[in-house]
Amino acid sequence: MIKTIKGCKDIYGEDVEVFRRTEEVLRKTVHEYGFKEIIPPVIEYSDLFRRSVGEGTDIVEKEMYTFTDKGGRSITLRPEMTASVARAYVEHHFETLPSPIKLFYIGPCFRYEKPQKGRYREFYQFGVEVLGDESPLLDAEVISLAYVIAERLGLKKLKVRLNSIGCKNCRPQYKKALQEALKPHYDELCDDCKRRFYTNPLRILDCKKEKEELKKSLPKITDYLCDECKEHFEKVKSYLDMMGIPYELDNTLVRGLDYYTKTVFEVVSEHLGAQNALLGGGRYDYLIEELGGRHTPGLGFAIGMERLVEVLKAEKTVSKEEKIVYIAYREGLEKNAFSVASKLRNAGLTVLIDSKGGAIGKQMKRASKKNATYTVIIGEEEAEKGVVQLKDMKKKEQVEVSESNLVSTIGGKDA
Ligand code: AMP
Repeated sequence: MIKTIKGCKDIYGEDVEVFRRTEEVLRKTVHEYGFKEIIPPVIEYSDLFRRSVGEGTDIVEKEMYTFTDKGGRSITLRPEMTASVARAYVEHHFETLPSPIKLFYIGPCFRYEKPQKGRYREFYQFGVEVLGDESPLLDAEVISLAYVIAERLGLKKLKVRLNSIGCKNCRPQYKKALQEALKPHYDELCDDCKRRFYTNPLRILDCKKEKEELKKSLPKITDYLCDECKEHFEKVKSYLDMMGIPYELDNTLVRGLDYYTKTVFEVVSEHLGAQNALLGGGRYDYLIEELGGRHTPGLGFAIGMERLVEVLKAEKTVSKEEKIVYIAYREGLEKNAFSVASKLRNAGLTVLIDSKGGAIGKQMKRASKKNATYTVIIGEEEAEKGVVQLKDMKKKEQVEVSESNLVSTIGGKDA
């Protein structure tokens, strides 16, 4: 038997319903903030990710699905979508449009990671990007959007973790200080961190293998921020306070992608275990330049849809019941069944027409098995009179209703 590829999964049953309902909430919320959708291709030139996500990152070094196509080009299945949005910004001259440009996306991403709970090789990201404006007001607005989304989905036990990782003026000094402080502990570091010590020492701060005491003893980035970064961070925090968004400062939060500058943040949930980041994001003021555009500040975040679905299911916050109407009918009355079904479907209801036939009693049993809310029964007598029998499957009550009053008796899909 052929099975799904390791780290990939079919999304079906309750999961796909929660996924799509969640997607609706996400789309509606970002629309209210003025975001417009962009659908980039799933494959891009590998260089795009090397230049944006960064050569020294786990994603580029170990996790990309890269292949050479028949034309000899190096192509990669996107490991994330910010790079694609930035590429599109440069390619289509979005800088000629009034800034800030606000875009959102949803789609599958691919990383060759070790699969575990909340970590897959194919996973969906929903994300937003704001391009062309460096105001700290936007950092606060984007973080508040993340928070509002979580609130609207009814998520509990959430935390916003916040940090600033400086810019190209102040981060090099911090990197040096960090390397100095880590030097005496080099031998204790895990193999990945030994490599990171040279390529990307900041990532050592969020490595789960390193000892907490060691991490706590290291210099803090916020003590090394230049005046501009410091002022920016202070403003972000004060706007968040004004908006009433709770957050926790966390000096060890650095995120796994090279393009971040200044503000970085995550929303974490207690329900997720080790892979507890529901969404992550930050500012990336040099990314567009790296990709050949003009200096264009930007920021955004990405939500992992699978993790969101897991949390929502664990918290049982999305158990909105669907109304299902089952239609049982005597043989020969298919035309009546079709006409009733079409009226109910036009009113937005989910309708199942019995397809196996036989005694009405048997059809009712099938209705029960399909969790029908109501069963509409059409017999010969009813058909002649233009009525149906309507059975409320929970209350076990049955009433005669004229066909024309059926929708109003049942109520629309939201009644
Ligand atoms: P990142 O692009 O690494 O900043 O991740 C943003 C969000 O995407 C994370 O907070 C996760 O919710 C989700 N995510 C990242 N990698 C994976 C993965 N391998 N499997 C499932 N979700 C992921």
